[in-house]
Amino acid sequence: MTVTIKEPVLVLGGGLAAVSFVGTLRSQGWNGPICVVAEEEEAPYDRPPLSKEFQREGDEEKIRLDLRLAKDVEWIQNARAVSTDLQGRQVTLADGRQLSWGTLVFATGASPRTLPALASGPAPVLTLRTLDDARRIRARLVPDAALTVIGGGVIGLELAATARAKGANVTLVEATPRVLNRCAPSTLAELVELTHRTHGVDLRLGCTISRIDGEQLHLSDGSKLHTDLVVVGIGVLANDTLAREAGIATDDGIFVDGHGRTTCPDVLAIGDVTRQRNPVSGRFERIETWSNAHKQSATAARALIDPSTPPYAEVPWYWTDQYDLKIQVAGLAGGDQEVVRGDPASGKGSIIQLRDGRLVGACSINSARDFMAFKRLIAAGGRPDMERLRDPTVDATKLGVPATA
Ligand SMILES: Cc1cc2nc3c(=O)[nH]c(=O)nc-3n(C[C@H](O)[C@H](O)[C@H](O)COP(=O)(O)OP(=O)(O)OC[C@H]3O[C@@H](n4cnc5c(N)ncnc54)[C@H](O)[C@@H]3O)c2cc1C
Repeated sequence: MTVTIKEPVLVLGGGLAAVSFVGTLRSQGWNGPICVVAEEEEAPYDRPPLSKEFQREGDEEKIRLDLRLAKDVEWIQNARAVSTDLQGRQVTLADGRQLSWGTLVFATGASPRTLPALASGPAPVLTLRTLDDARRIRARLVPDAALTVIGGGVIGLELAATARAKGANVTLVEATPRVLNRCAPSTLAELVELTHRTHGVDLRLGCTISRIDGEQLHLSDGSKLHTDLVVVGIGVLANDTLAREAGIATDDGIFVDGHGRTTCPDVLAIGDVTRQRNPVSGRFERIETWSNAHKQSATAARALIDPSTPPYAEVPWYWTDQYDLKIQVAGLAGGDQEVVRGDPASGKGSIIQLRDGRLVGACSINSARDFMAFKRLIAAGGRPDMERLRDPTVDATKLGVPATA
């Protein structure tokens, strides 16, 4: 086996991707020097609970990432990398320190897009990415507080659901005519919209903030809102500036292959900051999911030690919890045919997408076992029998679909 890893390994960013990467290097038996430079002051933590359990429970210990595998790793916290010298193999930190690397890994994640025009508004305007953001939001989500969420994506919707559970009044403003515009089929979006309305969220679709007058937010539908807190959830941008400035190929994300390799030798990128080939769509995309940050990073680490490691080609998937809906979504949001299995509207079932008879996407609601089976079928490019697929009494793991060319 040829080990391609060059010492020392320097990882920029201390989120899930970094933890998974360094943990995998160690668990694969690599004992060389590793340093992680992490901008946040916090010990590494998991982000998904920030819009869910953490808002309800506030338990910070529960969300810490497990570092037991990441043995003998030097963590430099509260430190920001500000430039990268690829020729000299050095990274400079904001405090002037210089660190050498043999293998450099960008695990710098993404940052929320903001709406600077709101800064002069009537209430605090926050985004939700870090534990500190989550603490600040949590402190303000008290009964009868008026929360305005801007953006009907996953994070905005999760926060709206949690805020309702805490007794806050929620208005959600979404510029497009539907929620989950980028990442789920319209059938699921309609179900999610109905659920939020049933729980008392004031959903304003196809609507934007048109003006702020110091007291109120004026919406494009002509209405005005009094609000105690605005949370903007309108997507994220990859933290790829350092890589771009160093001459590595980027486009809102660092281009990588299935082993996390960038266009520069001995420089990898992992997690939310990457733009990689989506095995289902065939396009280069950013895949901003927990599963990707965890598994793509592990594959990149394994491939450094064993170049025969198969390239990362997991079907992209994510979950979201809203009220009592546990939703899991895999593959593409659209196809040329949609099949509904079970009764998603009553809280259990799946919405399945097919293209040319092949399964290309699935959204399951409170149906985790079916979801795992559909994910496997998407990966296999399976062509299921429609009647059996539709029938919730047929065990999804026994659909018995052969992979086709
Ligand atoms: C509120 C919330 C809820 C979510 N819920 C879900 C969910 O339910 N399901 C799901 O699948 N996914 C969910 N996600 C997405 C998932 O958490 C991310 O995909 C994952 O955290 C990405 O990990 P990462 O390590 O690539 O990036 P990050 O977690 O963003 O870590 C990158 C780190 O790098 C640091 N950094 C950046 N630049 C520098 C620099 N120059 N020098 C040093 N450090 C730097 C950043 O400060 C950050 O700490 C959620 C995300 C959020 C924010």
